[in-house]
Amino acid sequence: MQAELLAVGSELLVPGRQETNAATITRYLLERGCKVVARTTIADDARALTDSFRLAWSRADLVIATGGLGPTEDDLTRECAASALGAALIREASYVEWLKERFKQFGRVMPNVNEKQADRIEGGRLLMNPKGTAPGQMVERDGKILVLLPGPPREMLPLFEREVLPLVEARSSGERIVMRIIRIAGMGESDVEQMVAPIYKTFSNPMTTILGGASEVELQLVGTGRSEALAEERVEDLASKIRDVLGARIFTESGETIERVVAGLLAARGLKLTLAESCTGGLVTARLVSVAGASSFLDRAFVTYSDQAKMDELGVEEATLKTHGAVSEDTALEMAKGARAAARADVALAITGIAGPAGGTAQKPVGLVCFALDGALGQRTVRRVFPSADRERVIQQASNSALEILRRALVGFEG
Ligand code: ATP
Repeated sequence: MQAELLAVGSELLVPGRQETNAATITRYLLERGCKVVARTTIADDARALTDSFRLAWSRADLVIATGGLGPTEDDLTRECAASALGAALIREASYVEWLKERFKQFGRVMPNVNEKQADRIEGGRLLMNPKGTAPGQMVERDGKILVLLPGPPREMLPLFEREVLPLVEARSSGERIVMRIIRIAGMGESDVEQMVAPIYKTFSNPMTTILGGASEVELQLVGTGRSEALAEERVEDLASKIRDVLGARIFTESGETIERVVAGLLAARGLKLTLAESCTGGLVTARLVSVAGASSFLDRAFVTYSDQAKMDELGVEEATLKTHGAVSEDTALEMAKGARAAARADVALAITGIAGPAGGTAQKPVGLVCFALDGALGQRTVRRVFPSADRERVIQQASNSALEILRRALVGFEG
């Protein structure tokens, strides 16, 4: 079964507004073996909408549109879908009555414009929406299904689960899909590819996709089978072979973020952490604090951007700064030691670097970041150069590396 999704609404095409319905629906359909072949976001424009419905209906078995079912002039989904199918709209008298009753309950008289919400595409049926006034609708014709759902996610999802999913399940070939997200830190995309491609290329099921990010690589394994257990078995078969070569470089097999993994490890070990951040300006701390329960391992942290702050707050020696510079392994180590003492923590991690775009030299280029770890997980320093002139990217990569240094120390991996 192949599906096509249409998200309707001019408001979804202005910057800053997120279209989320299609992604939500895709996830549910995929889990039931129904592939989504296209997703389109369309303005409240009659021509664009009718054309989109016509195209989707011509090539997919299941067309799901969300939004544009309201009572106003610019809510055109019903009309355009009906026109694309060459079907009439029939006003459902009983639904008009239901709507009037609903308005009455709220002490209001229904405006006439709302009547059009009771327009049903000929041959289809209305889907009652307990959370709003706009009903959904469904048309089954020529072995295909067209579904119109209200736009607000909190109205859309219950209707989708109640009315559409059972149909998809009944029609699906019984194929189930299982997806696993394996994430690897501290390695580049091509290094990961080189190690795992010879393995995953021998599998046609699961299918593997590799995605590279800032100091992080993601492998998506999508397996199919006649049952969920069989699909899962196939995914595990490939995942175990990938695990054999990548080992502890993998930080999650369930799509967790690295901060969540580090937070979990710290909490499990009962270790108190502190951070001393220069070029990352508190980003590593903020990422850890975003994990619920961070107070179990974090009491305080330091943002020491200037040399003076490094001396005042962390007791970094002026001589160290003069001899080695603020961005050096020596300074990083003094920052970590000073932070650990000041916070009375078990473990301290310090980060100091040149995020750019200015401030680089031949010996110390933009992108150079020094890290130091001190305390119960041992003492070590790490020097990395992130080859980017983009300040934000250097900061992001530095924060990822910092979390990865912590994680490796926590799991005892010396990769
Ligand atoms: P109602 O009459 O109940 O509002 P509707 O079908 O007319 O239903 P719209 O007017 O199209 O819904 O959308 C209402 C709001 O729902 C939008 O302003 C937006 O906030 C949210 N919304 C609509 N479509 C989506 C979408 N695809 N993803 C995320 N949010 C959406």
